[in-house]
Amino acid sequence: MPRNWKESNKRFLNTMLGIPGVDRVPYCANIGEQMLTRISGMTLREILSNPKTYANVIMSTTQFLKSDSVYVPTSYGGPYEAVAFAETNNRTHAIKWYDYLPIFIKQGEICKNAEDVERLEIPDHNKIKIWQTTFETAKIISKTTKFPSMVGFGIWAVVQQLLGDNAFIFMRKEPALLLKLCEKIYQSQMEILKNWKENVGRIWFVFVTGYAFNGTMMSFDDAMKFEGQFIKKMQEEMKTPIVFHNCGMKPYFEEVCSEIEFLAIQGSHPLDINYWVSFKKKFPNVSIMGANIDVSLEMLTGTPQDVEAKVKENIENLALGGRYIVNPICNLPFNVPLPNIMAVPKAVKKYGIYPLS
Ligand SMILES: [Zn+2]
Repeated sequence: MPRNWKESNKRFLNTMLGIPGVDRVPYCANIGEQMLTRISGMTLREILSNPKTYANVIMSTTQFLKSDSVYVPTSYGGPYEAVAFAETNNRTHAIKWYDYLPIFIKQGEICKNAEDVERLEIPDHNKIKIWQTTFETAKIISKTTKFPSMVGFGIWAVVQQLLGDNAFIFMRKEPALLLKLCEKIYQSQMEILKNWKENVGRIWFVFVTGYAFNGTMMSFDDAMKFEGQFIKKMQEEMKTPIVFHNCGMKPYFEEVCSEIEFLAIQGSHPLDINYWVSFKKKFPNVSIMGANIDVSLEMLTGTPQDVEAKVKENIENLALGGRYIVNPICNLPFNVPLPNIMAVPKAVKKYGIYPLS
């Protein structure tokens, strides 16, 4: 059955922007490499072998899982940005492919010491195969679905790929050098955004993976220093609305939303629904993607009924007045039972039709 992308786009976009008249709460599944390989039955190498195949697998998986949003997993900075750095700096031995998992980069292999940081060259993404494929794939998806295109940006996710555990040692002992690395990553990320605009077209939202903004990683001040200031700088240059993602256990959502203006936040913690209710009151213009539906809890070990109850709790508490998207966090892992995954869109249809009763 052909998919009505238009309805999904309207639902998603209007909810994000707080425009009234949405028919139901949108459902967004974070479909990464594990779901693409699982649903298509193809290995990651096969999927990424050409843009047409990759685009088709993304669109058919999105359709199969009934998600209202569609995106290209390799447009997220993390490992694929590390691939670009590895290739540009002659460290391709750090790249490891798996059949049914995302590419893995041996962390800390690209920047082993201060000298590596000083010498690190910024990639030209147009010359990196995986990024060429990503841009071409995004172009096909954009053309077919007209879905507002979302591109990844993140500093700390890449710092960790390049430096590994040394990131935290550098933070204490070599903060100036660490900042220098952040600046290089910033330039590289801006290069992706620039290339995206040229190759694919308009960027509707920048999807920021703000992994520094987690209380289990560092203080809020350090998070602002090593990631926040670069988000601000990018915002000034791009003037594009930002979706801020953090799937950590102790995210600094309230703190960071008081410092930087975001269109939406995406996360699964804290698990207490009252936190999210109070967040919505404090930040009525920031849309919420997620709240407390975590892919490693009810969805992994519970029953479809448990999943339904969770979705119901979120919709009842957060969807009134819009600006809420049902979104299990983070990427759907390989081993989540399919009945539990499908229980989410089912529950959204059951409880999420506007006006809510
Ligand atoms: Zn995440």
